[in-house]
Amino acid sequence: MEEKQIATIGSFCLNEKCKDYNKINSGNVVKSGKTDKGIQRYICKTCKKSITLDQGNDVLSLSPYRR
Ligand SMILES: [Zn+2]
Repeated sequence: MEEKQIATIGSFCLNEKCKDYNKINSGNVVKSGKTDKGIQRYICKTCKKSITLDQGNDVLSLSPYRR
């Protein structure tokens, strides 16, 4: 019996160009505070992109990580 892995936001990177793209729970994605709207933000340590869940549209978005 195969176990299915459920990918949740923050457990994997959404950047197709990232070498850790779609690797679930590999430790490259970490929490990084919240946006102004109070949405949880994650950062991929591999490609340095931030990942947020747009709750209005139910769309995941990627944006460059700004320091
Ligand atoms: Zn990445």
